[in-house]
Amino acid sequence: MWQLKVRAGNLASWLRHLTSVRGFHANISQMLLMYRYHRTPFTTLLRNMLDVLSRYEARFTFAVVASIATGELLDLVRDGGHEIASHSLYHVKHRGLPFKTQMSYIKRSRELLQVKGAAVQGFRAPYNSYDLNTFRCLDELGFTYDAGVRRGEHFQGLSRPFHLIIDGAESRFLSYPVSHLSDELLDKLPGKTVLKLFTREIDEVPDDGVSVLQLHPVRVGQSFFLGFLDSLVDYSACRGFSMPTLTEVAEGKAELPAICLSGDVDCLSFSDYMRRI
Ligand SMILES: [Zn+2]
Repeated sequence: MWQLKVRAGNLASWLRHLTSVRGFHANISQMLLMYRYHRTPFTTLLRNMLDVLSRYEARFTFAVVASIATGELLDLVRDGGHEIASHSLYHVKHRGLPFKTQMSYIKRSRELLQVKGAAVQGFRAPYNSYDLNTFRCLDELGFTYDAGVRRGEHFQGLSRPFHLIIDGAESRFLSYPVSHLSDELLDKLPGKTVLKLFTREIDEVPDDGVSVLQLHPVRVGQSFFLGFLDSLVDYSACRGFSMPTLTEVAEGKAELPAICLSGDVDCLSFSDYMRRI
């Protein structure tokens, strides 16, 4: 009985810690969901996704946490013609970290990914947690773009990448307006409903515009969500959208209008998920 109480107490404090460290929605049901998703090996999820994308010659930009990246993962992505961006060195919130720490995480993440063969041009902060120092680091390190998600409302109507103003000057890197929609909706709503929300968003992209969609490989690579991914990519192709990487758009090498498919790789296994807590 005492043991049970101690365990329950530990669990409660662990969950409190989890919520404070991970910042949002860290709860038992999410953990169980992640456990379920990670029962399929990550390379299988990735291959599932890449198979669908290759049918439409669609490119995907994977924002990968460098400390968990493996050569096999990066090879698979590169061989399919897709892109790797940095999702920092560790999956931690950057907002509030000292400039030096952020600089070291971002710089080291790019170096690690580059050593494994990825030509990293872009960044997305874990938990979408930025501050001015994050942007200063990206500028100083010469990143081509940042693709942070869920920016403020005034960025949501934009359909082209833009330059931020940092310390009174225009950033050298481009920032992408990323759709506020996420495949996370698939955990709560029927696939058809989520697809409708995404296609509505696609319909609103102007002829010279770009929309960046968020699709997490750990979810959309599941066999039961491949139909959703296929329908989404098929819809974009049928509507005449190109599906380039974020670097191709940033360098003006993509045909417009474009739908950029992107998603984060935070963990390769359930133990990675637990370890990052
Ligand atoms: Zn992430």
